[in-house]
Amino acid sequence: MHDFVYHRPQDLGAAADLLSAKADAKLLAGGMSLLPSLKLRLAQHSDLVDLKAIAALQGISRDGDTLTIGAMTRHAVVAASDEVKQAIPALAMLAGGIGDPLVRNRGTIGGSIANADPAADYPAAVLGLDATVVTDRRDIAGDSFFTGLFETALEEGEIITAARFPVPLRSGYMKLPHPASRFALTGVFVAQTPAGVRVAVTGAGPSVFRLSVAEQALSTNFSPAALNGIAVDADGLSSDIHASAEYRAQAIIVLAKRAVAAAQAQ
Ligand SMILES: Cc1cc2nc3c(=O)[nH]c(=O)nc-3n(C[C@H](O)[C@H](O)[C@H](O)COP(=O)(O)OP(=O)(O)OC[C@H]3O[C@@H](n4cnc5c(N)ncnc54)[C@H](O)[C@@H]3O)c2cc1C
Repeated sequence: MHDFVYHRPQDLGAAADLLSAKADAKLLAGGMSLLPSLKLRLAQHSDLVDLKAIAALQGISRDGDTLTIGAMTRHAVVAASDEVKQAIPALAMLAGGIGDPLVRNRGTIGGSIANADPAADYPAAVLGLDATVVTDRRDIAGDSFFTGLFETALEEGEIITAARFPVPLRSGYMKLPHPASRFALTGVFVAQTPAGVRVAVTGAGPSVFRLSVAEQALSTNFSPAALNGIAVDADGLSSDIHASAEYRAQAIIVLAKRAVAAAQAQ
């Protein structure tokens, strides 16, 4: 690991000031993705700005049909939250299926969304639930947040403060977990909302994406059977040592059906 200076600001303004003052500073949340890359010397930063002491980034609250989760809220807290279980059970289940107890007790929702790992779980919920990513500068619609492989709409020095999830009528998430890491080899989030059905796929491409053919089929008939006969084109899907693009294409429909069944069982 290369040397860096560690900072622990007490409020958001101080964190933002540090990011603008230090040309090569990086935010530190749970460290579950950032620290391994530093240890392996895949990344080098002059300064790390730890968000842990900023109380405004913690916590879960519900206001009407909107569930807001602070960026520094850890996966284990989301998984155990009665508020989340009651409002969006699929989101609590998703958080409880991330990694292992260590990862869930350190990793944060803001870190996961900012990192935009192509196999991460939360991006499927952000896109599937039409969530808003709230930053210290603006609100970013889930539909325009994830822009590519480990790429997002975040600007230099922009800090995610929370994710705002509209409470759906019902929703479900199913993934094919990597046996070691539990990252999604493929994962599908399905949500039935007053505005329509949304289907978001993670783990199958360079970035999370919506599956409009499934959304259309489920809009008229919200049942697993509505997805019978739908084939996903393997072109453009990820192919690696874990699964071929063709395998992932098949898995998407199988998982989407299971996610709909899980939503129906709520
Ligand atoms: C063994 C292992 C298994 C895992 N399994 C899974 C899994 O099954 N599913 C899954 O989804 N994930 C999995 N993860 C990833 C895990 O969910 C991490 O929590 C996540 O990748 C990053 O969150 P973090 O809080 O640790 O962020 P960090 O590692 O601290 O930061 C990650 C990146 O986000 C930036 N960042 C952090 N917070 C903010 C913010 N508020 N605003 C702007 N930028 C910010 C950082 O600068 C950095 O670039 C796994 C990780 C490990 C090590």
